Amino acid sequence: MRCSLRSISVLLLLALCPLLASATEASRQVRIGVLAWQGLEEAEVRWSTLMNRLADQLPGRELVLRHFDLAGVAAALKAGELDFVVTNPGHYVFLEAESGISRIATLVADNASDPAHVVGSAVVVLADRQDIRRLADLQGHSLAAVSPDAFGGYQVAWGELRRQGLDPEQGRPAPVFTGFPMSRVVEAVLNGDADAGVLRVCLLESLERDGALRPGQLRVLSPRPGGAPCQASAPLYPGWAFAAAPHTPPALSRDVLVALLALTPDAAGQSWSVPADYHTVHELLRALQIGPYAFLRETAWPSLWERYWPWVCGLILTLLAWGAYTLHVEHLVQRRTRELTQAMAARQRLEVQVQEGQQQMDHLSRLSVLGELSGTLAHELNQPLATIGNYARSLLRRQDSGNLAPAALRLAAEEIASESERAAGILGGIRALARKRNRVREAHDPVALVGEAGRLFAGMLPGAPELQVSTGGDGGGWRVWVDPLQIQQVLLNLFKNAWDAQRAADCDAPIELHLEQVGSCCVVAVRDHGPGLAPEMQGRLFEAFFTTKSDGLGLGLSICKTIVEAHGGEISAAAAEPGPGLVFRFTLPLAEGATPWHENPSDDR
Ligand code: ADP
Repeated sequence: MRCSLRSISVLLLLALCPLLASATEASRQVRIGVLAWQGLEEAEVRWSTLMNRLADQLPGRELVLRHFDLAGVAAALKAGELDFVVTNPGHYVFLEAESGISRIATLVADNASDPAHVVGSAVVVLADRQDIRRLADLQGHSLAAVSPDAFGGYQVAWGELRRQGLDPEQGRPAPVFTGFPMSRVVEAVLNGDADAGVLRVCLLESLERDGALRPGQLRVLSPRPGGAPCQASAPLYPGWAFAAAPHTPPALSRDVLVALLALTPDAAGQSWSVPADYHTVHELLRALQIGPYAFLRETAWPSLWERYWPWVCGLILTLLAWGAYTLHVEHLVQRRTRELTQAMAARQRLEVQVQEGQQQMDHLSRLSVLGELSGTLAHELNQPLATIGNYARSLLRRQDSGNLAPAALRLAAEEIASESERAAGILGGIRALARKRNRVREAHDPVALVGEAGRLFAGMLPGAPELQVSTGGDGGGWRVWVDPLQIQQVLLNLFKNAWDAQRAADCDAPIELHLEQVGSCCVVAVRDHGPGLAPEMQGRLFEAFFTTKSDGLGLGLSICKTIVEAHGGEISAAAAEPGPGLVFRFTLPLAEGATPWHENPSDDR
């Protein structure tokens, strides 16, 4: 049993051996990715020396060098295939934000003294180009560069041109991208394919040193002061970065950093220093809205338009529709206002016509009442006239017979005067009623109004029944806010109907009038002792042209209703209690608190 357990352990160990061996081998590997910005071969040449020297500093470690283009580095980092990345400052800043790498060292090239000022651009033109002396003169010319992604080979110069008010992105100057190697830019300028070219800083000096370019053949535009050892047209930025991937163990980073710092400058004068501050690179990329700041472009108008054009179009269409709707509504409102104004004018005209018609009708109805009453007017006037005549003749007779005593003369004269006054009173009342006039509202004593109407009634009708007037409550002293003649017209109508009804019943009982204050009104009740009216007929009493009389017009009560309602009152009829007979009640507003009445002052026509 024990033997078999031991043999299983041995077998397991043998099985795990290759796995453990490969894990150890992997832990010894240091995978370094470099940006091959000028192609794989150039990168191989450029970085293999560094790798060999670094490998010497890291005994026991196997350095694996891999080359990538810009996108390739990011993809390899994402796949966890790299421990370290060596790339240009612009790309480093991008990967720092994108993949979380962090620099451990900065490359100091071309014997530069400060790791924060290593990489830059020199914009060159043919030395004899007199028309282009400064960067600002590049407006309207062409500018060659290797690639829009090249940091020192394009972006640094681009940033400087932007600062000077130019922008190759807008075609000022027009960019011409030649591709790598950078010597193609030099050729483009020399051949006249481009007016100017962007070279990484120190390349011009290096080409001249190597004899690839005749010294003085090309001139650097807007050289910055303190241009040693190399001339630059723009500020210098930190050198290439040696950065650790997020998952790289800190101990390995420390070992590699120590190894890098231990390296002495190589033949090209390149060495590694502690990491520089890359915030100037951030500022440049932010100004150009590229790399990690490319998102800023998305808020620019063109990209906003590209993304939101359906919404913008929808909004514009909605606004247009809303504008059209508003105009339509405005048009409708104007039309309706016009129509309303016309309708109001027509209504006012109609009201004036109705008012005139009403006045005409009032007048005619008054004449109608007078007409009805005046059938016996001649007889009534005949009586005082006959009396006057009798007295006058009696005076003449006595005068002729010589026995005209002064007392008899005086009595006759007094009778004549009194009878003529009576006749004049009747005629005056009729005249006032028959007159055409505008309506008025005045404060009047209702008891006096009733008395006046009664006198006129009695004056016009021979044998008119007596009027018995009584008042309720405090016995009067109120004033009503009325048109006195209209109220007289109402009263005359009611008296005349009461008289007709009593004549039909052969009754000569007095017509009773009762006045009483109820709230803010004065209630006037006219009661007769006629036969009354069947209940089914009472509902039609105030209808125009309702009459039961052979010679009636049926307008009297409907006019009474119109007049009372125009005064803000009500009129109704009910069977008298105790019967027989009918009671008409109407209300009139008391003068206190009544609404002022505005109408043209009376103009007798
Ligand atoms: P008209 O007197 O010309 O008929 P009115 O409008 O004054 O017109 O009256 C309408 C009708 O109301 C009268 O025909 C009569 O039948 C009825 N009427 C009015 N007043 C009385 C009354 N006091 N008693 C009975 N019936 C009346």
